[in-house]
Amino acid sequence: MDTSELIKKINRLAEGKKKLRIMEVCGTHTVAIFRAGIRQILPDNVELVSGPGCPVCVTNDDYIDTAIAYALEENFIVATFGDMLKVPGSRSSLAAAQAQGSNIKVIYSPLDCIKIAQDNPNKKIIFLAVGFETTAPTAAATVLSAQAKGLKNLFMLSAQKLVPPVLKFLLNSPDFRVDGFLLPGHVAVVIGADAFNFLSIPSAVAGFEAEEILLAIASVLEQIDNGRAEVANKYPAVVTAAGNVTAQKILSRVYEVADSEWRGMELIPNSGLRIREEFAKFDIEQVEPVKIEKVKKKNACRCGEVLRGLVNPTQCPLFGKACTPSRAVGACMVSVEGVCAAWYKYGSNNFRW
Ligand code: SF4
Repeated sequence: MDTSELIKKINRLAEGKKKLRIMEVCGTHTVAIFRAGIRQILPDNVELVSGPGCPVCVTNDDYIDTAIAYALEENFIVATFGDMLKVPGSRSSLAAAQAQGSNIKVIYSPLDCIKIAQDNPNKKIIFLAVGFETTAPTAAATVLSAQAKGLKNLFMLSAQKLVPPVLKFLLNSPDFRVDGFLLPGHVAVVIGADAFNFLSIPSAVAGFEAEEILLAIASVLEQIDNGRAEVANKYPAVVTAAGNVTAQKILSRVYEVADSEWRGMELIPNSGLRIREEFAKFDIEQVEPVKIEKVKKKNACRCGEVLRGLVNPTQCPLFGKACTPSRAVGACMVSVEGVCAAWYKYGSNNFRW
């Protein structure tokens, strides 16, 4: 079915229905939807709501504060993806620590840390392991590679998170009002479409091209129309029911499931990954813990509500004023896949609420 037929189908399925809210869980989808102008071509009563699928956005202040505490120590090198630098912690950011002379290196893959560790035998290298099931297998492979090479100066500071538990958390939240999910294609490649079978509302695994996103939206609307709620795999070229079993094995060799704190959602049971006891020597928090003072930030940032789909970024009083991508107040304005950053970049004419 081509794009114009898909749009006709979406309009036909939405006709006469109440206002329908569909959450795109993944930050890459948020950006792809804006780029393709998908909000503009949907019927008035179909609303896309952004969700908690940007890894930088959901990483909480305590984690950033802990990373900064290590970075300020003389004998450490902190290795991180670039978009973590500007994420505000409770009082500062890694970029500010870097400006103060901390040794922080921007990397493109966790495996880059192997060379940094080999080149700096007198330093302790800490990789900031944030992200979802998509990137966690590479972090796990880095731990296995460090083990095989006998490296004693490479560590992880882990805040990796799992997508199905946060969706369960949202569905059980009394204020959550969403009629369907567009599920993250990249995560589903690893964990498989069947991992979402517990969902109780219409859902579809989506690819990242405009046509693939429209196909998934049509599938969700079709389920609503038929009174069904299932997980449709609309990205079958790369997503299977069982996912990537090799990646899953690497993950479970190194990590075990643990509770995890999400920005704006507090502690969600079984929603994160913790390094197994067998690999504890690579877990910096077990080897050399630092103490941070827990601070509750007081500003008007509404990131937590944005990530839960309760408000859109323009409902934050700081959006586009005190908070812009070059002067981010909250984490959702930092990464290119951040919900607020995407809404800011693509402008208020691109969406309809
Ligand atoms: S616009 Fe800025 S301050 Fe407001 S919710 Fe988004 S990130 Fe937070």
